[in-house]
Amino acid sequence: MEIQEAKKKAEELQTLLNQYSYEYYVLDQPSVPDSEYDRLLHELIELEEQFPEVRTPDSPTQRVGGDILDMFVKVEHSLPMLSLGNAFNEEDLRDFDRKVRQAVGESFMYVCELKIDGLAVTLQYENGYFKRGATRGDGTIGEDITENLKTIKSIPLKIKEPITIEVRGEAFMPKKSFEALNAGKLKRGEEPFANPRNAAAGSLRQLDPKLAAKRNLDIFLYSIADFGETGVRSHSEGLDMLDRIGFKTNKERRRCATIDDVLAYIEEWTEKRQDLAYDIDGIVIKVDSLDQQEELGFTAKSPRWAIAYKFPAEEVVTTLKDIELSIGRTGVLTPTALLEPVRVAGTTVQRASLHNEDLIREKDIRIGDQVVVKKAGDIIPEVVNVLPERRTGEEKEFVMPTECPECGSELVRLDGEVALRCINPKCPAQIREGLIHFVSRTAMNIDGLGEKVISQLFQEKLIQDVADIYKLTYDQLIKLERMGDKSVNNLLAAIEASKENSLERLLFGLGIRHVGSKAAKTLAQEFGTMDALRKASREELTAINEIGEKMADSIATYFELEEAAALLEELKTAGVNMDYKGAKPVRAEDIDSFFAGKTVVLTGKLQQLTRNEAKEQLESLGANVSGSVSKKTDLVIAGEDAGSKLDKAESLGVPVWNEEKLIEELNK
Ligand code: NAD
Repeated sequence: MEIQEAKKKAEELQTLLNQYSYEYYVLDQPSVPDSEYDRLLHELIELEEQFPEVRTPDSPTQRVGGDILDMFVKVEHSLPMLSLGNAFNEEDLRDFDRKVRQAVGESFMYVCELKIDGLAVTLQYENGYFKRGATRGDGTIGEDITENLKTIKSIPLKIKEPITIEVRGEAFMPKKSFEALNAGKLKRGEEPFANPRNAAAGSLRQLDPKLAAKRNLDIFLYSIADFGETGVRSHSEGLDMLDRIGFKTNKERRRCATIDDVLAYIEEWTEKRQDLAYDIDGIVIKVDSLDQQEELGFTAKSPRWAIAYKFPAEEVVTTLKDIELSIGRTGVLTPTALLEPVRVAGTTVQRASLHNEDLIREKDIRIGDQVVVKKAGDIIPEVVNVLPERRTGEEKEFVMPTECPECGSELVRLDGEVALRCINPKCPAQIREGLIHFVSRTAMNIDGLGEKVISQLFQEKLIQDVADIYKLTYDQLIKLERMGDKSVNNLLAAIEASKENSLERLLFGLGIRHVGSKAAKTLAQEFGTMDALRKASREELTAINEIGEKMADSIATYFELEEAAALLEELKTAGVNMDYKGAKPVRAEDIDSFFAGKTVVLTGKLQQLTRNEAKEQLESLGANVSGSVSKKTDLVIAGEDAGSKLDKAESLGVPVWNEEKLIEELNK
């Protein structure tokens, strides 16, 4: 790269980073995920290392935090509030460890702490009384938010010792408060906060403390700004002192002797973080001894004795290269985004379902756009939003076809559906997808018959419907691509074995609309054989608890079809089992037990059985074990220290037993 080009690139990056910083720190409304900000910042750092002349004093690489609003009184920090260096993987951490060991030798301890995802604040106490609190601001000057901080109940207005001290910590919004706040905002038609961090920052930077008070914020203190006369020798002693004088610190901290112990701590919390009541975005690792911290010193932006490990990003930015269309088993046309491969939460993502046309319009997704991608529930990738400010003008609007991309028949929108459908029953895509469904794991579970093999067999016209699978021969299969003697024999054996499946697998595999695997199981249990089910009327079907009108209708319609009758005949001739082979469902009325059909509530501590054991035994005898007492409750079992449920049972006149009586009856 030429210097000229580097300069231009650096300016571009600076402009973007400044815009994002402003949105994040000043507006508390980020438009890109943190991972994207971090990525651009890294790019700029590297560029400046390569071409030091492009570095300007106001470059985002030289700054801590963000701008300070004029709305608040400015406060100059007695000691700067710094940022932390970042580590994104094991290599970065080992690198950090190596540098620490080079500076202080082998004998030292680390302290690992959760990196709370909130905002840094500093609190000043004079003679034990809370005097002033401020945001970090740009690291040197922050905003005085004392009145708002006073609304956080875990910030003591008076501490247990009459000392003068400045302490620092992370103010945050617990997940529950965040959800409630956003639910309210949505209800009022207001823009929700992007995440708890921004909600916390927004709340503390309200001019009206009454508003902040409603936000249920909390705080963890994580350091003493100036250890001065405290007598404290290490960071962990400092945290213990904070505890002692009345501050709230985070208890999950751990001292670690080696970087391997640190890695184990990180691994542990990567798993457990979901269960916390607040968001964390990483782990902070600090050298414990204050003397050793002093030896290590600081860079312009951050201490050399600490580093922040960041969890793998759950939201990232990538390019949407194209939109692919596919017809599913039920004829629904689904658009899928083809993405420039990108790592999200630990795996590479290159496709994301866009569900339907409305979603594409609503999010204004265009081909060539830069998009934010996340894994919903950490599993299924989804496009969150597009970044219109990154458009070059080359992006193309997506046009939904009016005809089926496979068979050319006109697509329709059925009443009340957002999806476009191909309703041609002969559409090859639907037939192929139906075949793939039939052999899938939850249906007939035929190993070795994956999507690719099915597609080949279908294309070669060796199978047209599911009955044809049972007519496949060795000679036909051996001619397929990548099929050897062994795999053909395995496949034939798997097909043969599938004939023995219990009825519910076949039922589900047939792909009758609305009949999922659970309903298939219920139907198989209730009717026992395919013939019995075929003869069932709509009334008999809806008489079953889990079968509604829509499903009953769809089942009856299916069995009325001549094609269905012919197909079932063929399958039968091929030797496919049509009977239910599983256990009969237990019905309350079939059980000869005192508890059968009764609603029982367990409360208080049991001595001889655990709650779960009691529940299982009761359920196996046909009882319905419920969590709350009502008029419908038949019996309450009260252990020791039973509370309000016992009171309620007594007031409703529900019979109450003790544990001995329960065991006596269970033993009968
Ligand atoms: P940082 O988040 O990398 O780490 C430092 C901060 O961690 C401290 O200031 C403190 O607030 C916090 N922290 C939490 N627990 C701590 C503990 N136990 N000990 C010490 N510190 C603890 O750095 P930063 O400078 O605060 O902020 C940069 C962050 O802001 C990055 O995550 C960046 O992605 C994000 N950002 C995002 C955008 C955007 O547009 N999305 C824009 C600007 C910045």
